[in-house]
Amino acid sequence: MNAITKTETAPVNPLGRLIKGFFARLMVALYLPSVFQGMAKTFGYMFRPKTTMQYPEERHIARKGYRGEHRLKQDDQGRPKCVACFMCATACPAECITIVAKEAPWPDRDKVPASFEIDMLKCIYCGMCEEACPCDAIELTSTYTQVATTRQEKVYDMNRLLRN
Ligand code: SF4
Ligand code: SF4
Repeated sequence: MNAITKTETAPVNPLGRLIKGFFARLMVALYLPSVFQGMAKTFGYMFRPKTTMQYPEERHIARKGYRGEHRLKQDDQGRPKCVACFMCATACPAECITIVAKEAPWPDRDKVPASFEIDMLKCIYCGMCEEACPCDAIELTSTYTQVATTRQEKVYDMNRLLRN
């Protein structure tokens, strides 16, 4: 024998619905839900560890792999590893590397850079120069705080890049 089931529905109270809707619209009109959400968020942050740093006394340590300012590397004899092959300048999408080559004074390479400049204000810190270098002669460091007061100061020459 099949059991016949009935779905029981609560009696509709139009006045109750009207009042409930009125208060819901009033709350939204007074921004109350948003205010409470905002306060809940603020209180939530009060119990988390602080993330604000007292710069410059406290310094942010860049994560591993951060692409900051460039360094030209030196070999174990203190010579620049760069052999002025122009691969980095060719790969650079911002065209901010300018190299002038000269004959090398050492027998183990043909050329060395007579000058090597990077315009740091044009650089987009993409790391393509580091990727393209066949001699592991250039790298991007974690340095990010080098400020300057003139544009010319941000054009780094070879000595500056070797010191970085
Ligand atoms: S990081 Fe990118 S934009 Fe900057 S010098 Fe290297 S290749 Fe050019
Ligand atoms: S790719 Fe490397 S070796 Fe070639 S010019 Fe650039 S830094 Fe020097």
